[in-house]
Amino acid sequence: MSISENLNKIKETLPKEITLVAVSKTKSVTEIMKAYEAGQRVFGENKVQEMTEKWEQLSKDIQWHMIGHVQRNKVKYMAPFVSLIHGVDSLKLLKEIDKEAGKNNRILSCLLQVHIAQEETKFGFDTDEITTILENETFKTLQNIKVVGLMGMATFTEDEKLIKKEFQNIKSLFDTLQLKPETPNFKPEILSIGMSGDYRIAIENGSTMVRVGSAIFGERNY
Ligand SMILES: *Cc1c(COP(=O)(O)O)cnc(C)c1O
Repeated sequence: MSISENLNKIKETLPKEITLVAVSKTKSVTEIMKAYEAGQRVFGENKVQEMTEKWEQLSKDIQWHMIGHVQRNKVKYMAPFVSLIHGVDSLKLLKEIDKEAGKNNRILSCLLQVHIAQEETKFGFDTDEITTILENETFKTLQNIKVVGLMGMATFTEDEKLIKKEFQNIKSLFDTLQLKPETPNFKPEILSIGMSGDYRIAIENGSTMVRVGSAIFGERNY
């Protein structure tokens, strides 16, 4: 099936209120254009340099999401244009994003990445660290970032029960955060969970944003 056929098939089954991030990492500008022509405007990349090159070449009405792990020294390159940073996993990184956003007169929306999978290697905060960050005095002074929700990646497994349990854990943390008072830099509205293999489970468990790559663009060749 073609990129546009894949995209349309996914969109048909996706509830309207759920944002589809088309994960275009490793894919060419030509392939991205196929999705763009089929109406897709939100794309996700996991490397700052690759995302910046694509932003330079492509239409400026595309919203670029950084979904990968971010090195602090790369933040400056994406600060002028990135529309959502999913993988924020330290206060130091938040401070850097705040600084670079300020230089660009922007307020950058960020998701805190929560470690929900069993795998050791995945980045992210533990559940209790999220509250610690939000109550941190330095965090409260940051004016050019806005924490708008959480992002998580489930264990890469066929075990749907485990995936479901992991998504339920992050959803319950998300619900807890929504009970907290809003502040100028904290307004949790987005729960970014679900990829090609598990986005249906994610939607059943409270996802508001799915990040789908190979189911749209085909397998990646690294
Ligand atoms: C690559 C990637 C995706 C998309 O993965 P697919 O399985 O191809 O849908 C989603 N989220 C993150 C963080 C990724 O790095």
